[in-house]
Amino acid sequence: MIELPVVESSKNTSRKPEWLRVKLPVGQTYANVRRIVDVNKLHTICESGNCPNMGECWGTGTATFMILGNVCTRSCTFCAVATGCPMNMIRMNPAG
Ligand code: SF4
Repeated sequence: MIELPVVESSKNTSRKPEWLRVKLPVGQTYANVRRIVDVNKLHTICESGNCPNMGECWGTGTATFMILGNVCTRSCTFCAVATGCPMNMIRMNPAG
């Protein structure tokens, strides 16, 4: 049997760098963007893609819209947007 080396745990626990931390979605500007998106039933890549920057971007009044719905025809593995055939494409090409 091989004995594995024992590593002493350091009391100096490494903290994540500040730039890696995700800001919580709070504040009046965030709430205003949230309200505009909800009231107008808008689709944003921010939400559909589960973007971790929403707290920061929406907190400064920036959101990115998906103008033809919340479905994408591609299936990129890194992206959280739903994959499928958007209804607008069906209307444009009823045969296909
Ligand atoms: S605008 Fe900001 S929150 Fe929206 S997708 Fe781009 S980086 Fe993410």
